[in-house]
Amino acid sequence: MLAEVVAALGSESSDVGAERLRIGGLTPLTSIDFPGRLAAVLFCQGCPWRCSYCHNPELLDATAPAALPWAQVHAFLDRRRGLLDGVVFSGGEPTLQAALPAALAQVRALGFEAALHTGGMYPQRLAALLPHLDWVGLDIKGPLHRHGVITGARGSGLRSRESLGHLLTSGVAYECRTTWHPGLFDADELVALADELAALGVTHWALQECRTPGGAPFALAPARIQALSARFASFTLRRA
Ligand code: SF4
Repeated sequence: MLAEVVAALGSESSDVGAERLRIGGLTPLTSIDFPGRLAAVLFCQGCPWRCSYCHNPELLDATAPAALPWAQVHAFLDRRRGLLDGVVFSGGEPTLQAALPAALAQVRALGFEAALHTGGMYPQRLAALLPHLDWVGLDIKGPLHRHGVITGARGSGLRSRESLGHLLTSGVAYECRTTWHPGLFDADELVALADELAALGVTHWALQECRTPGGAPFALAPARIQALSARFASFTLRRA
């Protein structure tokens, strides 16, 4: 499994072992980050994007040293065999690191199911990982014309749509989610985004309201929420 994944990641990553994965933090138990599973969350260091609402700014620096050595993480997971169902790779952006496939392989070898939280900025890497994942939470930050402003990375919207295509084709269980407040894009654009995602084949969408510090209160009208919900087989609203 490892060989085929690292091959897809490119030759420069083919010798990157799990011990090189820089983990910035660990949540030992969650019941909400991997639906239906009791899981640990590994927060991977580094992200190439700079969303204004990022809740993990301490994880953004890709050059920061690991807070937890992989050996320590592995030993922790080994002790949790039979107690946890799965492991979530979150971030930061896990697919930034070439050591991710090796770490994923070790997690699977311990008998855990595996989930990934990603912004989809590396579509080919995600495609290579998908056969070895049980669930993916994919962020779609906004409409294509707003995406680059939200992430601070030109072209990020197209990358996320390419990743979405790989995810939907794979058949892997997923949640597509969008963090929103009116300062990012307006409610009409939010509806247009829902239309776009539904047309692309998304059936599971979560809308996560986000308040900015000092920002004005806002609330989507119930009729608007109903209209958004009607576009998807599964719709979740996470209030700010
Ligand atoms: S993609 Fe995620 S981790 Fe990266 S800056 Fe945006 S919110 Fe933060």
